[in-house]
Amino acid sequence: MTILETRPATSNAWMRCPGCGDMIYRKRYDRADRVCPECDSHGPLTADERIALLLDADSAEQIVTAPTIPDPLRFTDTRDYPARLADARRRTGMSDAARCVRGRMGGVPVVLVVLDFRFFGGSLGAAVGEAVTTAAETALADRAPLVIVSASGGARMQEGILALMQMAKTSHALQRLDEAGVLTVSVVTDPTYGGVAASFATSTDIIIAEPGARLGFAGPRVIAQTIGETLPEGFQTAEFLLAHGCIDLICHRNTLRDRLTRLVATTVREAAEDIAAQSNMSTTMGFCESSVNVSPDTSAQPGSSAEMPGEPRATIAVGMQAEPGSEVAAGFHDDVVVQPDSSGARDMVEQFGRLGEMPEDESADASRQPDPLVVTDPDSVAERDPWECVRAARELGRPTTLDYLAGAFDEFIELHGDRLAADCPALIAGLARLDGKPVVAIGTQKGHTAAELTRHNYGMPTPAGYRKAARLARLAAKLELPVVTLIDTAGAYPGVAAEENGQAVAIAESLKLFAGLDVPVVAVITGEGGSGGALALGVADRVLVCENAVYSVISPEGCASILWKDAAAAPRAARALRVDSGSLLRLGVADAVLLEPPGGAHRDPVAMIGRVRTAVTRMLSTLRALSPDELSEARYQRFRAFGRVSADGPDATTTTPDA
Ligand SMILES: [Zn+2]
Repeated sequence: MTILETRPATSNAWMRCPGCGDMIYRKRYDRADRVCPECDSHGPLTADERIALLLDADSAEQIVTAPTIPDPLRFTDTRDYPARLADARRRTGMSDAARCVRGRMGGVPVVLVVLDFRFFGGSLGAAVGEAVTTAAETALADRAPLVIVSASGGARMQEGILALMQMAKTSHALQRLDEAGVLTVSVVTDPTYGGVAASFATSTDIIIAEPGARLGFAGPRVIAQTIGETLPEGFQTAEFLLAHGCIDLICHRNTLRDRLTRLVATTVREAAEDIAAQSNMSTTMGFCESSVNVSPDTSAQPGSSAEMPGEPRATIAVGMQAEPGSEVAAGFHDDVVVQPDSSGARDMVEQFGRLGEMPEDESADASRQPDPLVVTDPDSVAERDPWECVRAARELGRPTTLDYLAGAFDEFIELHGDRLAADCPALIAGLARLDGKPVVAIGTQKGHTAAELTRHNYGMPTPAGYRKAARLARLAAKLELPVVTLIDTAGAYPGVAAEENGQAVAIAESLKLFAGLDVPVVAVITGEGGSGGALALGVADRVLVCENAVYSVISPEGCASILWKDAAAAPRAARALRVDSGSLLRLGVADAVLLEPPGGAHRDPVAMIGRVRTAVTRMLSTLRALSPDELSEARYQRFRAFGRVSADGPDATTTTPDA
């Protein structure tokens, strides 16, 4: 007994970490917003602490919610429900388990509703349902993003079937935000289960989870008892959910506010432009260093990061050679926010001393001088052997999608998962800004090295990849943001699992989805455009093909082995298939060819990235002037024309490319 009394655990100044069990100094723990300095586990926060953590100082303004029936069933177990409620109110100072406020994040008005686990385990009863619904209705009236922070054991048993109905009530309110094009974001904290997990915690546009946060419909104990299954390690944790495509990203508590601020800003046009101005970006080039701001959550615990399995942590991958012997930091990292004002960008400016002149001055190169960079006349594309183009398109030093996202865009926030089963590493998608304006960016990712290629499945998307792309395309439509796709893939992944999961269906759905998208879509074939797996991202208003890129119904090797019975006949097949950019322009498949630096994009990736930026920006600015109906009809006619004999001859197309 005396031993117990003298143990430090009983001291108020010290406490035992709920995660690792180590003794930690309480003040230090509180200062770190209840994140353990030893094991990085995220402890519980009250609703008021959450509000203070996430909103701009002094911006919170309470939203009054309507009163709800206090005890609809006159429920009694060992005590009656009103007595338990009175206890919870006394302990927490809250009237129920949710707080609902208006406020600002980085100056952007938002509506925030937060669940507090201390009050009846954050359970969903009428009062919580009312708070979430009122928050959604306020967000609708204000046209302000809605942020929901959940921590809940599920529906509140004491309110019976009326608690269950709160799931439907809140979902209706969120559905109206979908119709109105208002962004919704869920922040999942530990633990989030049952009716909350199966409604507003996961039915938002974007789902962020804190490291280690558990979310599920049925709790692990229920599963073990009913089914008797052995649960895998890390079951239902944020890391498990990310790997299974259920959430967009994992965010450490100390970067959560910054991440949310960037997300809400990306979807608010004026705010995004303000932030772009604040960040002091170079408007002439906008090249930004790639792997910046890798949040500590990706380096804290093994297996707790927002990365793909096997992804090196906090690594700036380097693969592109701008000049012989000089490396350009242009690799990328999953789940990063690219900031244009990074020190890396400044280093690059010092290193190369010419970023500000890009890309127009590129044409000063003597051999290119007479040519504009974007060519719409097929005769202006230098005659090339298509097989040479195939080889150039596969050159490992060419900028990859992540390089373009890092260099050509001002900012990119990668989102993960198909919300179904998986997160495909070959397909990268997220919210970005191009020339200060928000867009959705989607692309296939290969890599510069064997390790990168393996990590990204050689750039061959699985059905989960196409479903992630489709999810982001729908988000673009909801938020009225243009879509930019970057295509460099040998094709959709040809594997047993891919077939089992409906590869053909996923591609077919993507084609139809993009056909009906009523926002501008620009596709850039940056390397290989491999068949249906490429076309799934290629149904666009404008298709831009890089000079050395290729686009083909089948790989030349595949064609050669089928028709020539000899894969070595690939060069002949490439010529016969007319896969080169000049031919694509002539056939109307490409609207324009983007000339590459002398020797190809891999000789000067920085210049190439600048050219793509300029060309896509110009195309989007033309397309933004069109109404959704005009866009839709023009896109329909663009693809309707393929293969038809027209009065202008077989090579004519209906589109008028802009350049
Ligand atoms: Zn700990």
